[in-house]
Formats: sequence, structure tokens, C-alpha cells
Amino acid sequence: MKRITLLGATGSIGTSTLDVIARHPDRFALHAATASSSVESLVAVCSRHRPKVAVIADESRLRELRDALRAVGVATEARAGAAALAEVSCEPDADTVVAAIVGAAGLVPTLAAARAGKRVLLANKEAIVCAGQLLMEAVRLGGGELLPLDSEHSAIHQCLAGARAAGRDVRRLILTASGGPFRDRRDFAGITPEEACAHPNWVMGRKISVDSATLMNKGLEVIEASWLFGFEARRIEVVVHPQSVIHSMVEFVDGSVLAQMGTPDMRTPIAYALAYPERVESGSSSLDFNRLGALSFERPDLRRFRCLALAFRALAGGTALSATLNAANEVAVEAFLDGRLPFDRIADIIEDALDTAELRQPDSIEAVLAIDAHARRAATQRLARFAIATTSRQAG
Ligand code: NAD
Ligand code: MG
Repeated sequence: MKRITLLGATGSIGTSTLDVIARHPDRFALHAATASSSVESLVAVCSRHRPKVAVIADESRLRELRDALRAVGVATEARAGAAALAEVSCEPDADTVVAAIVGAAGLVPTLAAARAGKRVLLANKEAIVCAGQLLMEAVRLGGGELLPLDSEHSAIHQCLAGARAAGRDVRRLILTASGGPFRDRRDFAGITPEEACAHPNWVMGRKISVDSATLMNKGLEVIEASWLFGFEARRIEVVVHPQSVIHSMVEFVDGSVLAQMGTPDMRTPIAYALAYPERVESGSSSLDFNRLGALSFERPDLRRFRCLALAFRALAGGTALSATLNAANEVAVEAFLDGRLPFDRIADIIEDALDTAELRQPDSIEAVLAIDAHARRAATQRLARFAIATTSRQAG
């Protein structure tokens, strides 16, 4: 029986993970579930899946959580706060930790789980983008393992099965990208959050949906792939594949290319990682080749999708730049979702942050958090300048 702590249980990945877990009560048991601030959603998870522990990140909601659990007659223990999140991630009662918090907020608990030698199933790509080296080192020292949940990295993990270590058998990794909702759109002016969140193939949280629309998601995934599999940037390519049927590919030195395919359903990579190295039913439907039609591929347009180019620049510049890229992107995406920043200015905020970034490479979690905080401040100031410029233009 695998005992699982699910960080970010109320989100899109959290919900899909609970679906897979519930299909296999003989294999998987939920030890703990966590959420940011919605007591109602967390209690709903607890009533259905009966974890031993529930953690709400927002400390002020502890009593509310405790009362609500009691009111529905669930014996789950309530905890709260950032320290409780990190604690529950390294508790001996669980062997697997699913890192499905969105953003750099997931970094500390994910790192704690790795240090404690857990099997960490990583959806929280921002954590590995900010602190790739620290996280990989923590996994090695902790003696656990890190398995990807991201569909592209799961595909590569599957294609690499049997290959020799250190990428000696491999020519390049090829990450596929759907191209997002604006693949064919020339003019990015006036794009609304609703349009940006309407992804053609996947239903996801709002932040990653916007990242998919700017192609920053692919940029973060390139950095993620580089750390997970130990490949430098020049051996990682991105190809746009609008059907999202091939989830990524590996080309070997002999010219052979392996692709992993499936319907776009996150339960497939989640089930793969939960049961690894075995395979279990995930609930996803079969690919219907009779109805699939053509699969197509095209080069990503780095002039329209500047965020992808910025991510390659950050990867070449080391962890300090990657952490800066991520922080500025989080600030810009939040501002876009709140209606404070036009879609076509997201890349400007990030580029500005990279231009003024701290270049000293971080050697501790504290150093990463300092870079993250510095980049958020810089991006927030840039946003404020942008807002003033827009207001005075409108006034004039
Ligand atoms: P989501 O917004 O649907 O869910 C996020 C979860 O994190 C929620 O449970 C929320 O309560 C929690 N959370 C948010 N902020 C928090 C904070 N400050 N402290 C503690 N908890 C917090 O997001 P999602 O789409 O499920 O994505 C989660 C992660 O998985 C992201 O890093 C995303 O890039 C990655 N991912 C998602 C998908 C997908 O299909 N949704 C695919 C691949 C990778
Ligand atoms: Mg992905």
C-alpha cells in the first residue's frame, strides 16, 4: 500500500490525482491533503477521500477548517500554515508526495519531501525551475526519487526507459507544444483572460492556462526537462503539435525516434508515476486511430511567443535567471488575470526582470527565495510604472 500526501489537492492536478487514487483503494491511500485557502474545497476532498491530515496554507482559516470537518463528521486532523505544509511533506506516515501546488509557493514543501527521501511526483514545475540544482541534490541526498507528472516529461521518462544514464544514447529531447489558443492569432492586443484560459486540448488551472497561451509553459518545461534528465539547452527542442496526441519524443544517437502517445488526459501521467514501475488503469479513454486524422508539426514562432525565447535565455543564464523568469512571470500572469496588464505586455515585464536580474547563482533555499522576492518586487514596480503610463496616456 502506498501512502500519499497530496500537496494542492483542490486544484486541477489534485482532482485528477484523487480520481486515480480512488480507482485503486487496494494500492493507494491518501495520508494528507492540502490547499491554499478554500476551506470548502478542502473539506469536500476530506469527506470523499478521508485523509488522516488536512493542511490549509492560510493560517487564519485553521479554526474554520476544524469546525467544518467536525460539522461533516470527518475525523481528519486539521493543521495550518507554511510550516505545517513543509512538515506534512516529510512525515514518515507517507512514502509518496505529489507536488501539485501552483507556483514558487510549492518550493519549500517539495524540497522538504525530497530531503526526506520521499518518492516525489512533480507537477509543480515552478519549483524545479527556481531551484533545479537544489532539488536534484536533495533527491540524491535524501535517497528518494523524483518522477514527473507533467505530460511531456512523463513521455520522455517513458521513452528513456532502458537508455543508458547521462544521456549517452540520446541525440535530443523533443518537447511537443499544442501552441495554445493563439497559435494562429497574429495580433495579441485585446486578449481577455477568458480567451487565454480556453485551452484547445487541456482543462487546467488558470495560471498554467495563461502560461500555455504565451508558451511560457513550454519554456518552463524546457528548463524542467534540462534538470530532470540532465540535458543542456542545445539538446532540447520544442515542436508545435496542435493535436496534443504525441506528448513528447526522444531521438537516439542511431536516429531512432520514440514518441509517447495518448489522449490528452493528465490521469495517464499521474497513474504512470503513482504506480511506477507498474502500470495501472487511469480512467483515461483510448486513442481512436480511426478518428484521429492527421498529426501535424510546426516550428514555434519565437517572435510572437517571446516568452519561450526568454525561457531559453534564462536557462542559458543559470538558476538565478530561471528563478527571476519564474517570479516575474507569476507576477505578470496574476496582473493579466486581474485585468491590470494586457496579454501582450506579459513578456515585457519578464524581459525587464531578466535585464535587471541578480546574477549570483543561489546555493541555498534562502538564496533562491531572496532572488524570487527581489524579482517579484522589480516586476511589481515595472507593473506600477506601466499602469501610470497607461493612465496618463488615457488622460491625455
Ligand atoms: P490549480 O490552480 O488548479 O491548483 C493549485 C493548487 O495549489 C490548489 O490546490 C491550491 O489550493 C494550491 N495552492 C495555490 N497557491 C498556494 C499557496 N500559496 N500555498 C499552498 N497551496 C497553494 O493548478 P493546477 O493546474 O492543478 O497546477 C498545479 C501545478 O501543476 C502547476 O505547477 C502546473 O504548472 C502543474 N501542471 C498542471 C497541469 C494541468 O493539467 N493542470 C499539467 C502539468 C503541470
Ligand atoms: Mg506539460
